[in-house]
Amino acid sequence: MNTAEIIQMGDACVMKTYGRLQMALVRGKGVKVWDAEGREYLDFVSGLAVNSLGHCHPAVTRAIADQAETLMHVSNLYYIEPQVKLANMLVQNSCGDRVFFCNSGAEANEAAIKLARKYARVKGNTDKYEILTALKSFHGRTLATVTATGQTRYQQGFDPLPQGFRYVPFNDMDALIEAVGPHTCAVMLEPIQGEGGVNEADPGYLRQVREFCSQKGLLLIFDEVQCGLGRTGKFLAHQHYGVEPDVFTLAKALGGGFPIGAMVAGEEVAGAFVPGDHASTFGGNPLACAAGLAAVDQLINHGVAENCARVGDYFKGKLKGLAGRYPVITDVRGQGLILGAELSADGGEIVNRCQGNGLLINCVNNNVLRFLPPLIITVDDVDQAVSIIEKVLGEVS
Ligand SMILES: *Cc1c(COP(=O)(O)O)cnc(C)c1O
Repeated sequence: MNTAEIIQMGDACVMKTYGRLQMALVRGKGVKVWDAEGREYLDFVSGLAVNSLGHCHPAVTRAIADQAETLMHVSNLYYIEPQVKLANMLVQNSCGDRVFFCNSGAEANEAAIKLARKYARVKGNTDKYEILTALKSFHGRTLATVTATGQTRYQQGFDPLPQGFRYVPFNDMDALIEAVGPHTCAVMLEPIQGEGGVNEADPGYLRQVREFCSQKGLLLIFDEVQCGLGRTGKFLAHQHYGVEPDVFTLAKALGGGFPIGAMVAGEEVAGAFVPGDHASTFGGNPLACAAGLAAVDQLINHGVAENCARVGDYFKGKLKGLAGRYPVITDVRGQGLILGAELSADGGEIVNRCQGNGLLINCVNNNVLRFLPPLIITVDDVDQAVSIIEKVLGEVS
């Protein structure tokens, strides 16, 4: 099918939940993708932080092909070898002790919300259920996670929303202290807010939140669905801050492009879940976990996070250079390869023109260009991308 045919069929029968660009990608390798007409693009979106190893990484495709020929799915009624190995690898490389597997970021956060409530119950707090989250956060699209998301635009039209969530301004310790009430059981934060516009937590804030949660007996949950798994230059974003959560969630890059999510907790908190409390038919299936095992092995043992830190610094420096020459860029922020350039104007035109020049980028909140390239990119890839962005900035200003 050509692009026009794909678009026509999609417009006719796919539900219209996405504002899609008029393009259809059919193939990818490394940082490059191709559309149905064979046009080549540098992919600095990478499936919104999913394809962190680049497209069709050989270790991941090999693991998927081998596992698909061996055993694709069995129920969680049984022990599953790739699942226990992936759990072991996540636990060995984090502050967590036990893992629950699911299929997406929203499901991972949903599991964290349920665990926080159940833990409160187990501790004898029958009326503690409320979770504080940050304004401009994003935690998913299920009813509970869209309610946890501190942005009303995702919630409109879906009420009544579940009870038990309250929002506080990000990086504002006083507001958080103020917001805690008799029903509060947990605080859930992204160490770097992705969808909210690449907003970094202040190191002091996360340390204070940790201390405060420990004092008050509140669980601290980090949503690392976007910023985790090497994207900031360390395996987990919170490892930059010297702060350990009680629970953290992963998804996006966890399967190297294959759908899988995980909720990780310390031993004591994890113990609140007993058989029957939570489940997922597909969660932790052999195929997804084989993909995850190959992907996490690459991220941890093959210098991917280190490359991300190095090339990310270089890229951020280049973006700051652009900000110096093009005043439309009012701020450059982020860590590793989750970077944002805030604009004083709408970014849609820049995104479109970059696409026309062979570079895929994304814009959040209408005015923050967001860069989420694969973590395996080179300085050369960055130079190419920056020269396209510079050309486009010259055209639009
Ligand atoms: C993408 C994202 C989610 C939701 O993940 P899905 O897999 O789309 O359900 C949750 N939290 C954060 C921080 C995200 O970036």
